[in-house]
Amino acid sequence: MIEFLGDWKRSHYCGALTAADIGRDVVLMGWAHRRRDHGGLIFVDLRDREGIAQIVFDPELGAESHGKAEAIRSEFVVAVKGKVIPRPEGTVNPNMKTGEVEVTVVECRVLNRSKALPFTLDDYVDVAENLRLKYRYLDLRRTTLQENMILRSKVAQTTRRYLTDNGFLELETPFLTKSTPEGARDFLVPSRINRGQFYALPQSPQIFKQILMISGYDRYFQVVRCFRDEDLRADRQPEFTQIDCEMSFIDRDDIIKVMEGLIATVFKEAKGVDVQLPVPRMTYQEAIRRFGVDNPDLRFGLELVELTDLVKGAGFKVFAEVAAGGGIIKGLNAKGCARFSRKEIDDLTEFARIYGAKGLAYVKIENGEWHSPIAKFFTADEIAAMNKAFDAQEGDLLLFVADKPKVVNDSLGKLRNHLAKLLGLADKDTFCFVWITDFPLLEWDEDDKRWAAVHHPFTAPMDEDLEYVESDPGRCRAKAYDLVLNGNEIGGGSIRIHQEAIQSLMFKMLGHTEEDKRAKFGFLLDALEYGTPPHGGIAFGLDRLVMLLTGSESIRDVIAFPKTQKGTCLMSEAPSLVDDKQLRELGIRVTTK
Ligand code: ASP
Repeated sequence: MIEFLGDWKRSHYCGALTAADIGRDVVLMGWAHRRRDHGGLIFVDLRDREGIAQIVFDPELGAESHGKAEAIRSEFVVAVKGKVIPRPEGTVNPNMKTGEVEVTVVECRVLNRSKALPFTLDDYVDVAENLRLKYRYLDLRRTTLQENMILRSKVAQTTRRYLTDNGFLELETPFLTKSTPEGARDFLVPSRINRGQFYALPQSPQIFKQILMISGYDRYFQVVRCFRDEDLRADRQPEFTQIDCEMSFIDRDDIIKVMEGLIATVFKEAKGVDVQLPVPRMTYQEAIRRFGVDNPDLRFGLELVELTDLVKGAGFKVFAEVAAGGGIIKGLNAKGCARFSRKEIDDLTEFARIYGAKGLAYVKIENGEWHSPIAKFFTADEIAAMNKAFDAQEGDLLLFVADKPKVVNDSLGKLRNHLAKLLGLADKDTFCFVWITDFPLLEWDEDDKRWAAVHHPFTAPMDEDLEYVESDPGRCRAKAYDLVLNGNEIGGGSIRIHQEAIQSLMFKMLGHTEEDKRAKFGFLLDALEYGTPPHGGIAFGLDRLVMLLTGSESIRDVIAFPKTQKGTCLMSEAPSLVDDKQLRELGIRVTTK
């Protein structure tokens, strides 16, 4: 029988009871997590979002309640009135927040039943992810996900409080908007009233937040959803949340200072971690040189070693040819890895190939000597010089890639992270932040045969590089910065172009025709001509941030209702077909299904 709540009011969360509550009369409501029938006594673990309380039905104290308890099954919704008492000697559970107490039931109401579950909610039991996503409402009851969501809420609230305290205004920008190209594909929304025309869902509020600066709303922020129709990689979602900020009359250092304050506050309040301020900075060039990537994980060393000058004149033809053709040779010293088997080294080679390396030369240092198919090509002096560059010691494994700079840095940079994982070098409780600055402004896109913005087209060039934007685009650096945490880019932004002429030049460099430029960005170019203040900003990826704070393996574990890698929601079954009538109203005909 299902009963009504009536005038019962909950007095405590189940998970909040402690020894301090002993003797209190309480009213608890929650889900029956587990039931144990001990003949006379029935124990139910009653669960809510704060945790679990053990409640005891004693037939001597209430025969009617005890009768109801016999019918309780997993995930029934139950309300009880009772008294908090200490657990009997020997039954205290030190692993539970509420482990010192239990509640003896005086009265009980069974508020709802539950079908048998498709999987157990015990956190330590692995369940296929597709099943979890289909029954997301059940999955979200699991402790880990509840903790993740609660922490996520805390991060959002802390962010709002910190930014508001620092003079930021929380303002909204439209979801139904004109596409503001930022490199990805737009999600389009057909307009019924304006047949044949489409809105785009924002890839970010970039242009709107800049226009808010033009309008004088200095210091804006928003915790905002962004949409990008990309082929999804493991940790991407088609919709994701950014902490989006913009400021006026500031330079890069001002933004960095406020924003590292934000991150430090979030880490302190959500995680109890003290972030050392100021966060160190590294130029893009240095990051690439030392770590091969622009998002270096600084929890471990394993730095890349530059060898081009050392080997270009040596007898190893492959290296000499690469160097002569403008390529470079770099290496990594995998400390203590000379013990790696042939198979393990082959696996590393395969890994490097993913990033374009044609091969991976290796040297094992054993018995004080080089053991390697390439050892014979080098003189003793050359080997000594390389040993010195690598700081090579007995038992080390030296790895080399020779190729175009991009391939060498990419493959060795990724291999560095891969090795760190294999060797357990990255401690998951250490948080290493670094700002990466001085990014290139433009990069040549070989596929499209044109220059592309490294950040986005609104990023300002460094003042001293401005004169080269047209004549030598590749040498220009941008006033852009990324915040990197343990090898993950958690935020990125820039000082913006605030002069129409420079913005126009930028669009031209990116290959937009005059017409195209007006059609896509006319409103921004117009606005820039009406007294635009110098401004800049940043956006942090909230999902990624929460993922790192919770130590989650997957971004889907920190989003209440995530999409699969195919962009589907297994619970609601979106996307789905729609009625012909809806399509007719929109003037749309689907040609393929
Ligand atoms: N709009 C940029 C992004 O989404 C961030 C920024 O420059 O503020 O990456």
